[in-house]
Amino acid sequence: MEDSLKLWQQTLLTLKNELDETDFLELFADVNEVFKTENNLIFIIVPNALVKFRIEKFYLEKLNRICASITKTPCRFKFILKEDAVEQEKVSITTKDTINKRPLKAEYTFDNFETGESNRFAFLSAMKVAETHDKIYNPLYIFGDVGLGKTHLMMAIGHYILDNDPNTNVVYTTAQEFTEDYFIHTSTKKGKENIEAFYQKYRRADVLLVDDIQFLEGKQATQEEFFKVFETLHGLNKQIVITSDRSTTELKNMMVRLKSRFNWGLSVDIKVPDKPLRMNILKRKLSFLIENPSDVPTNVLDIIADYFTNNIRDLEGALRRYITYCVSLNIPFTVENVYVALERFLPERDADKSTNNGYFDLVKKEVAAYYQVQISDLESATRKQHITYARQMAIYLIKNIYNPSLKSIGERFGNRDHATVSHSVDKIEALIKSNNLVKCDFDILFKKIKNN
Ligand code: ADP
Ligand code: MG
Repeated sequence: MEDSLKLWQQTLLTLKNELDETDFLELFADVNEVFKTENNLIFIIVPNALVKFRIEKFYLEKLNRICASITKTPCRFKFILKEDAVEQEKVSITTKDTINKRPLKAEYTFDNFETGESNRFAFLSAMKVAETHDKIYNPLYIFGDVGLGKTHLMMAIGHYILDNDPNTNVVYTTAQEFTEDYFIHTSTKKGKENIEAFYQKYRRADVLLVDDIQFLEGKQATQEEFFKVFETLHGLNKQIVITSDRSTTELKNMMVRLKSRFNWGLSVDIKVPDKPLRMNILKRKLSFLIENPSDVPTNVLDIIADYFTNNIRDLEGALRRYITYCVSLNIPFTVENVYVALERFLPERDADKSTNNGYFDLVKKEVAAYYQVQISDLESATRKQHITYARQMAIYLIKNIYNPSLKSIGERFGNRDHATVSHSVDKIEALIKSNNLVKCDFDILFKKIKNN
């Protein structure tokens, strides 16, 4: 709360420089109280409806933009009258009771969603859909690989809308459930009456959330039915949100008119999280798992974040397993115990632990072919410039991809000592940053090796 107030005051300070002093004072002199911060929205109390109207109409976008330039956390301002704030407080006490009855996972909220480069746009779009009533993005189509937060984000929209208006009919379904539902309602004898119940359920939604739409691929009859539901709801200006593991163009065996409907609104993707995001997610999940998150050293989280790079569900699962393991055996949260607890789940990356060092040969082979040198050159003592460069690149690739110890790398490159290996790593790292050609070499080789 305190931070939100500070942020608001800083934002105002910037705005003040851009406005005429009297204009500024007239509108903002008395706007200095934060009501609450929720779902990345900062609620600011305004003295009367006219001030609220004028701020929202003329300054809201600007204020949000300034705010975004001050802080990295995506947040927005919302203005609320004092009397409405009091009223909302009462309502929120009742909605807390009903939260468990929602068809949504309780913890899948915007508040619990960490943002980074890979998901910021999807997050902001979801927020926008949840908070605005004009349905500019309808449908919102969220796609990305498994375990990257699509369901979480979709449910967060549902929670947010229900928080604001508990009477909204939010319907969540997976494409699979939808399909089963359709067959249950049409395959029984009662026929007509039954299909009516099916229609009631979906066509009465105020907000329809359909998860994993790719499941409808190749299912002609269900697609037809879903198309009708879509047309009805879209026609009534009801919000539709869809998730998928692929983009609309990559959907196979899907009716063209259905695909074209998916493109009516906004399509956003979630990518693989980078290291800082993975660390933030681990820290957040940790605070749910144990009372004193600071008991777990950061380098433990570092290791887990380094191993589980492309699926947030696996990342979370690894942390949970580690914590459960240490707690139930009553052993300390150490780095060694990460390896013990996760032994079966860690890909073989550490040359010291692994008996299979096939990757050394693989990298040497690819690098030698790429730079047209001999594998024996890479292992030799020669200091010819182009060979030294190729050798350093090979060392860097191995360190970067497989992360064995410097000592074990040295042993496999003509018994060089660890300082020499370390120098090679630093050298290429610096070159990648400063020289595009080197970066290009690295990218190509990295891909070749990864795809092997
Ligand atoms: P998907 O539907 O894309 O397969 P989910 O939404 O089920 O993925 O997410 C998998 C797990 O990862 C969930 O437990 C979810 O809470 C968590 N998760 C994903 N993205 C984030 C994020 N940005 N911040 C916090 N938790 C996340
Ligand atoms: Mg999902």
